[in-house]
Amino acid sequence: MWNNDDACMKCSICITVCPVYGQDSDFPGPKALGPDWFRAFQENPATPVMEHVDDCTFCQLCEASCPVHVPIAHLIARHKSFKKKTTRIALRDRILAHPQWVARYPHLANAPSFLVKPLGFGSRSRWPRPQKRVGRLVSPNEPAKAAQVIGLFVDCYSRGFDQDVLSAAQALLELWGFSVRLLPHASHCCGAAAYAAGQPEEGQRIARATYEALSPDLAGLSLVVTLNATCDSTLREEWPVYWNLPLPVPVLSFTEFALSRAPESFWETMKNQAPGTAGTAWVHTTCRSRVSRGDGILEALVQKAGLPSVEPLNMACCGAGGSYAFKEEHEDTAHALGLVALEQIKNPKEDSIVVDSGTCALHLSQITGAAAKHPAYWLYHRYRSLTERSVEIGSQ
Ligand code: SF4
Ligand code: SF4
Repeated sequence: MWNNDDACMKCSICITVCPVYGQDSDFPGPKALGPDWFRAFQENPATPVMEHVDDCTFCQLCEASCPVHVPIAHLIARHKSFKKKTTRIALRDRILAHPQWVARYPHLANAPSFLVKPLGFGSRSRWPRPQKRVGRLVSPNEPAKAAQVIGLFVDCYSRGFDQDVLSAAQALLELWGFSVRLLPHASHCCGAAAYAAGQPEEGQRIARATYEALSPDLAGLSLVVTLNATCDSTLREEWPVYWNLPLPVPVLSFTEFALSRAPESFWETMKNQAPGTAGTAWVHTTCRSRVSRGDGILEALVQKAGLPSVEPLNMACCGAGGSYAFKEEHEDTAHALGLVALEQIKNPKEDSIVVDSGTCALHLSQITGAAAKHPAYWLYHRYRSLTERSVEIGSQ
């Protein structure tokens, strides 16, 4: 099916990095659920689906660790697709596999628990609350030169529940001299949620619809910036490699873009006006970011903004896993995975925790009791508080 899908040499390295395997003694682990099961299935298509296959978060850390590049998580996603579900769980998973629906009607997330609990939604994880877009950063002293037009990929979570992060990112990009085009115009999804939920064909269908919707808007763009780590990895990996949907322009995460394209004058302003260097910032590079771009980028951003004391959280996966934490059968594992952060975080301040995904930030905020911020939001508010006199908030 894919390159190296039958290359497993049974070294078991993937098992040692799997966050769910370390947390849940019933979980068979990536080797058993991925390459072992797939070999058995190819020999005998009647091979039964394994009981705990749905407990995989699709973090892909196993895949990144494999010395012979077996597409382990993708094999597990395929394995999940054979699982028979009860009607109520199938309906729930269909909703969660289409976050673009929820983004279009975000107030659905306010539905009372007596309505959603019977469908198998968990009650332990806090649901996101819809936010209105509040304003844009305007700097009268530094009008945007608009040397380049860049695309900002509007993911379902930001569109439905975190429009502030969109405002913050757009404002900073314009402050740095770029003209921003929001992509796509309508509410579309990259397909990651369906893929992770064991609906690979549906994920591909959703991705193709989004690809077609945004393709006309790519003309004249130099690159696309993403705000959500999972969407970023999906556009960069699943789209070109698994679904034959290569974008004609490079894709960069907001953090990568800020580090490589924000003018030095911006960073000088941040550093010079930072009120001392007290306090520690904790950063969580989400599992999908770590797999596609490696560690250290968030740390570099926070340090470049004038905070030298930065600690990465010692977590493989925080447990949010896209919609994983919202499912009744996964909420305890999701909570246990996130609790690891509490061992490290001491006396957090308002801007102490930086996480490069909105859903992971929501999950960690709930578990730690401190506000975890997306890097765009974190930079925006820090810049604004440091340069309050020269910056004002304008209306849309
Ligand atoms: S790391 Fe790769 S080769 Fe080793 S057991 Fe896992 S899938 Fe097989
Ligand atoms: S994708 Fe993540 S949770 Fe799933 S088996 Fe691999 S490491 Fe474990």
